[in-house]
Amino acid sequence: MATEIGHFIGGQTVASKSGNTSPIYNPTTGEIQAACALASKTEVESAISAAEKAFPEWSSANPQRRARVMFKFKELVEKDMDNLARMLSSEHGKTLPDARGDVQRGLEVVEFACGIPHLQKGEYTESAGGGIDVYSMRQPLGVVAGITPFNFPAMIPMWMFGVAIACGNTFINKPSEKDPSVPMRLAELMMEAGAPEGVLNVVNGDKLAVDTLIEDPRVKALSFVGSSDIANYIYAEGARHGKRVQAFGGAKNHMIILPDADMDNVVNQLIGSAYGSAGERCMATPVAVPVGEGTAERLIEKLVPRVQTLKIGPSMSEDSDLGPLVSGPHRDRVKAYIDMAIEEGQELIVDGREFSLQGYEDGFFMGGTLLDHAKPEHRSYQEEIFGPVLQIVRAENFEEAIQLPSKHQYGNGVAIFTRNGSAAREFAQRVNVGMVGINVPIPVPVAYHTFGGWKRSGFGDTNQHGPEGVKFWTKVKTITQRWPEDVQGSEFVIPTMD
Ligand code: NAD
Repeated sequence: MATEIGHFIGGQTVASKSGNTSPIYNPTTGEIQAACALASKTEVESAISAAEKAFPEWSSANPQRRARVMFKFKELVEKDMDNLARMLSSEHGKTLPDARGDVQRGLEVVEFACGIPHLQKGEYTESAGGGIDVYSMRQPLGVVAGITPFNFPAMIPMWMFGVAIACGNTFINKPSEKDPSVPMRLAELMMEAGAPEGVLNVVNGDKLAVDTLIEDPRVKALSFVGSSDIANYIYAEGARHGKRVQAFGGAKNHMIILPDADMDNVVNQLIGSAYGSAGERCMATPVAVPVGEGTAERLIEKLVPRVQTLKIGPSMSEDSDLGPLVSGPHRDRVKAYIDMAIEEGQELIVDGREFSLQGYEDGFFMGGTLLDHAKPEHRSYQEEIFGPVLQIVRAENFEEAIQLPSKHQYGNGVAIFTRNGSAAREFAQRVNVGMVGINVPIPVPVAYHTFGGWKRSGFGDTNQHGPEGVKFWTKVKTITQRWPEDVQGSEFVIPTMD
């Protein structure tokens, strides 16, 4: 029988009693390697109770103490990097170096959160009125939860709990049922780092677990990252239940290539951002937009041999460019989008549908695919494919190139490649997308800035990590104080500061 991954509640691993599980595959071999428990309502409630019990002590711990736990956690995760990367790669299918990057990008948010004594400082105004001082403080919210996707099982939980816990909240992570082992291990390491029991909990589960988190009044805030329909659902339902919610969704990021761009550099960057992690990144580049006459031909000439020679291999091999997709049904969905694109009239330049890796015929592999002449009205262009598929949409001029990502339903990231500073500047100012790269293909902001897409890529008004993260995970209290030496007279008119 496959090992069952349970939950992490109140400082320890607990076996699930729900009787429901979901299979965890090794995408390289296609075999089931473990089972993920799907929590019952009672199990989720016990995690909420554990977090609620831990809150008074943790929220009143001084900020240096919370920071020290984060410093220690960072050290422990660094020591455990190889183990975490192997666990991650074997369940997700991304290559080992990419899995290390997943852990590292999460750790950068933890590094940021180590500065919490400074970040959570309030503001003070002396003598705002006669003998009156005004100050504000940022207090934690209470029990909070993060619902995370399969594609970054280390980075995205750390984006959330790194900042939330440092701010004094107690946290429940509901990871993806496809790759729950890394979030479970991170919770163990957080305990080892000195966080009290119940500060970081993990409940594995499906919609039932998520709905319990949404409905329980003890949970004060929800952070979600995943696909857009579910992000929208969580945003609406969370708000209906009176919670603070941020919910990030899908993406269809464009790379705009102006005629003056260095085409060798463009191709080097594009090949990694379109096909790395088998295209299963919310900041991948599944759309290339060559602008002006002849640019598409120059791009295609250099790109095709690179797509044809991508090194597709077992996820654990150090030198694969990309590994398998996360599951069989997901790979079939990606292939169905390629069929759709062909029916819509796109030209199939490189076909990855029939790819099979010798010795791993049951793995969820597919080859890199390149399609030309995608059009804005094509459904396969409008929707997120989330696989190793790059679509070329040709734009006649700069204006058309700005309009393509601006009018798309998603607005996560976009990149422009050019040598023209004023064109790049105008593009960055005008484009209707949340994160912009200028000669940078995957513009994921560093931890001390902030991550968040626009339109159907992001619901809510506060981003992940950076100062915005501290804002999301805390509420402001403002105090107006006076220490009069004499008895004050009554006032019937609203006080003003003359
Ligand atoms: P998903 O939406 O299927 O699942 C995300 C989480 O929601 C998981 O924990 C899952 O168990 C839970 N969930 C699934 N169905 C649910 C339902 N009906 N009700 C409540 N909860 C439910 O997403 P995924 O396949 O794990 O991840 C890939 C998606 O995430 C892609 O669309 C990708 O673009 C997006 N993503 C976005 C960002 C971003 O920052 N914008 C980052 C990473 C991934």
